[in-house]
Amino acid sequence: MSNTIKAIRGMQDLLPEKKARFRLIEDQARSVLMDYGYQEVGLPVLESTSLFSRLVGASTDIVEKEMYTFNDRNEESLTLRPEGTAGLVRFVNEHGLAFNQTQRLWYTGPMFRYERPQKGRYRQFDQIGVECIGMEGPDIDAELLLLSARLWSVLGLSNAVTLELNSIGDAESRQAFSAALVAYLTRFKADLDDDSLRRLTTNPIRILDSKVPTTQTLLEDAPVLSDFIDAASRKHFDGLCAILDAAGQPYRINQSIVRGLDYYNRTVFEWVTDQLGAQGTICGGGRYDGLVAQLGGKPTPCVGFALGLDRLALMLEDQATQGRSIDIYGVSVGEDARGKMLVLAEQVRTQLGLSIQVHAGAGKLKAQMKKADLSGAEIALIVAEDELAQDAVSVRELRGEGGQALVQTSALIEQLQRRFEQ
Ligand code: ATP
Ligand code: MG
Repeated sequence: MSNTIKAIRGMQDLLPEKKARFRLIEDQARSVLMDYGYQEVGLPVLESTSLFSRLVGASTDIVEKEMYTFNDRNEESLTLRPEGTAGLVRFVNEHGLAFNQTQRLWYTGPMFRYERPQKGRYRQFDQIGVECIGMEGPDIDAELLLLSARLWSVLGLSNAVTLELNSIGDAESRQAFSAALVAYLTRFKADLDDDSLRRLTTNPIRILDSKVPTTQTLLEDAPVLSDFIDAASRKHFDGLCAILDAAGQPYRINQSIVRGLDYYNRTVFEWVTDQLGAQGTICGGGRYDGLVAQLGGKPTPCVGFALGLDRLALMLEDQATQGRSIDIYGVSVGEDARGKMLVLAEQVRTQLGLSIQVHAGAGKLKAQMKKADLSGAEIALIVAEDELAQDAVSVRELRGEGGQALVQTSALIEQLQRRFEQ
């Protein structure tokens, strides 16, 4: 039997280069969100199971088969959050943030879904969620779309993504549509795939999302949702399209976008790419005007979206992400020299605010110089036997024309300051 313990299936380890890509996306998103006046909040990863079964919907894929649910030591049923909106709504209700006020909030962190792992689909994945509370008009929907478009632009992905938009109306319009869809599809029951057959009784509208070719063919002649949309939702949608047109933001109206969670109404949208195969949705969202009231708050219009960092990071894989390299590399030969280098490095960080990585442990000068070169640092500080004897440090230029000078230890900080001011 092997003693090796491996990571859980579908839970990714992020090696430094990959983590740097996540960080880059998060940093850019944070900066764009700040430019629009959004505030970051922190939400727990664990919530009561009932929060999701009630708000996300009992017959959604997420609640039916994807949740990590367990009883804690107190026999309370808890769930690792599969998505962020339900928790955010609990949060705004609990802190009275939805009552007679507006909020523009965002959060980031891991989500957990028991799915079949594949490229772009993991059991732990990171999202950035952006949610607007208390704003009713299509202008805030438009703001969210323009904000996300700006993020793609900053990340250099504008040409790789397109916006797909739809309106799913209010609950009554969806009910009427659902009934018509069921009546139509029931006639073709024999031709439906198993998943769709099951959804016919649990969540018929989700059948529109089916990727099964025979089902897609059946849907070509099915009733269309837009024929059932209520007048107020239609007006809202027209208003949104008008703003996007005025802003020059391209979009495609896609009637089959219905989203996989129960809480959406009116506007729904997805940003999609053809670069990631089947996992082509990088961001999805919409209105959820009923959710705050459903959790006991006052009826409050809300709209939001979540973007998947893992998929975005995959899209950025071809682009070199320049990690920040360090300024200085500290080389030391011998035990006394090592101690001296550590002390000098602390002074460099404190007094100059420069970054310095020091060699740890033993190692020949030549091998250390090689590491210094690979580190990307601009200069190496060297303390070996000679330097120790003279109470000095060798300062060696690693880039350009090179060159090395012996500097008295007492003059080092001043010398470095001048060097890095250039
Ligand atoms: P999909 O149709 O791909 O399953 P979804 O509709 O379930 O996506 P949402 O719940 O809307 O996804 O989540 C928003 C975003 O989070 C997605 O667009 C995607 O980028 C990302 N995402 C969702 N599930 C996963 C996953 N299992 N692994 C990685 N990213 C994911
Ligand atoms: Mg999914």
